Amino acid sequence: MRSFSHILIVAFLTLLTQIGGLVWILVFGFYRLRNIEASPVRRALIFLLVYLIATFFVVPPLANLTGRTALPFTKSGVLMPHNYLTVVLNRHYVKARLKSDLFKLANSINDSNKDLKLSYLDANFQFIDGFPLLPHLSHNDGKKIDLAFYYTKEGKPGNLKPSNSGYGQFVEPSPSETNQTAYCKSKGYWQYDYAKFLTLGSRDDLNFDLSNTKKMVQQILANPQTQKILIEPHLEDRIGIINSKIKFQGCYSVRHDDHLHFQIS
Ligand SMILES: [Zn+2]
Repeated sequence: MRSFSHILIVAFLTLLTQIGGLVWILVFGFYRLRNIEASPVRRALIFLLVYLIATFFVVPPLANLTGRTALPFTKSGVLMPHNYLTVVLNRHYVKARLKSDLFKLANSINDSNKDLKLSYLDANFQFIDGFPLLPHLSHNDGKKIDLAFYYTKEGKPGNLKPSNSGYGQFVEPSPSETNQTAYCKSKGYWQYDYAKFLTLGSRDDLNFDLSNTKKMVQQILANPQTQKILIEPHLEDRIGIINSKIKFQGCYSVRHDDHLHFQIS
């Protein structure tokens, strides 16, 4: 494989998973140093194996040393990843304070309805304050996380979400509500709704659960450590809570009516 291809792959893996580029260098460097002949498929499989071992056994204790901790990677508890890819790609790390706040939030939601859990989306990488978790520029210090809204199916609240990735299936504004997306796109911010390409598959048999999403927002705002919630203006109006910590992210960002962003100080 040409060096340029390796550089591209290392850059891509680093931006996607932070440690992936380093693992690629180690695996392919080892092959080259030892002059071992192996097919590209075999090398790719070895890379995958080493990457998974690093992800589940090496990185978590190392991240703890630098002040970040992994969120639960199974769906068995009250706090869970919406999509396992978040975990496999190492995008589920936070500071211990945020983890404890998320567990309090998840337990409180579950106490009020045993059918409900708290589904997290992208959080932060494992290491290095200032290293952004693209495409989220601000998810770079262990204090930020995206959370899925709640939805009902045939009127019953549950943990199903309309988008497989957790992103890109929007709770659209009604004709009488503020249409921030139309405004931002009219101003030339073409990227504002690009998350629609990132659903990894979606379903349309679920309805936005205003009541339980509102409860989640209320609980987050009751936490004195909460610095900010980002949510789309029409959903802020629908939820009907006036609080200076609920903010609009700006047209240069992306629409937040498929998830909310929560960050602590
Ligand atoms: Zn976010």
